[in-house]
Amino acid sequence: MSTFVRGNKDLIKAINRNLILNTVRRHGALSRTQLTEISRLSVGAVSQITQELIREAWLLEGGEGDYTGGRRQTLLRLNPDAGCAIGLKLMEHRIVCALTDLESKVLRYQDLPMPDDHDPVTIVTALTEAVETTVSASGVDRRKLLGVGVGVAGVTYPQTGVVHYSPYLGWRDLPLAELMRVRLHLPVYIENDVNTLTLSEQLFGAGRHIENFVVVTVGRGIGMGMVLKHQLYQGAKGGMGELGHITFDAAGPMCSCGKRGCLEAFAADPAVIAYVRHSRSAQDAPRTLEDVIALADGGDALARAALRRSGEILGIGISTIVNLLCPSLIIVSGEGVIAGDYRIAPMLDALQAHTFNGLMDDVQVIVEATDDHAWARGSASLVMGKLFESPLIEAGIAV
Ligand SMILES: [Zn+2]
Repeated sequence: MSTFVRGNKDLIKAINRNLILNTVRRHGALSRTQLTEISRLSVGAVSQITQELIREAWLLEGGEGDYTGGRRQTLLRLNPDAGCAIGLKLMEHRIVCALTDLESKVLRYQDLPMPDDHDPVTIVTALTEAVETTVSASGVDRRKLLGVGVGVAGVTYPQTGVVHYSPYLGWRDLPLAELMRVRLHLPVYIENDVNTLTLSEQLFGAGRHIENFVVVTVGRGIGMGMVLKHQLYQGAKGGMGELGHITFDAAGPMCSCGKRGCLEAFAADPAVIAYVRHSRSAQDAPRTLEDVIALADGGDALARAALRRSGEILGIGISTIVNLLCPSLIIVSGEGVIAGDYRIAPMLDALQAHTFNGLMDDVQVIVEATDDHAWARGSASLVMGKLFESPLIEAGIAV
């Protein structure tokens, strides 16, 4: 141990700086005495490191806290303007871009069209422009930009920054993080888009302080993110949570993934639309989920049946999650929840009916419509996660 300490002075210092920053980040404003108590570092170390962090503008001094030794102590807090991050959500037809401060407050938001040509060079150019125009429109100093987080549908490898498979963009093994890093001269982090929403729920939403929870998204596809033991679960390399592609009926319809009978091929929005379109003339056939909902509102029995069937099959799919994991919370989200009780009520009934006896007693289900801000904000928080990550992980000593 002593050899390790002597040989790694810089690392020890980096760990202590990280500890101080994370303590202030987690607890809010703290006096130096409180910081010493919570961090268990020496008074001298806290004094030296906080002085350094104030000089570098990571911490701000201000306000007065507890009485210690007969005098009030000045409080230290994280400087939200010490840096900022960009979060991107890539969709088939749109790019959503959010600029956030260090406390993940959205400073600027942009919604841009995704180029029709999904060639990587074209997309990387569009993404680079999205980052630069968002920062310049915000008035924030570009030098404060610490990095970029990107959420992409499909199988992503966060460790290597590679998009292994993106069904909507038609990419396979694309080193997207590296391609963007070269253009932006900034660190770029890639993650599955449902995982960025899951991070957002964990940091700012219903998943705060929840040890085990699952996010299920319903829309164009059906996705899933998991927090287990307070950690985002990332599978072997990054691919996981493909709830939409568990086989519901091996002899069922073709799925967008090329396999047959996936849950998604029965229960996602395109399946609902196709079910209603099938029996209608070209003129009054619905094109969007909104069209189907409008028909259902008007009393159309087929539209209502399509939404009910989708909800039931979705409920069966989610019951499998409860049977396997029994998380304390399931958040059902995504653009498809706008169908409301036409879809959600049968989903909840099927969930009760198909879950193993008694397991649902311990599970809370929340249905919420999230906007694209939440996804993009989650992508930006990938940068904060790396920024405040333990130096031991970077040094390869801890995971
Ligand atoms: Zn599939």
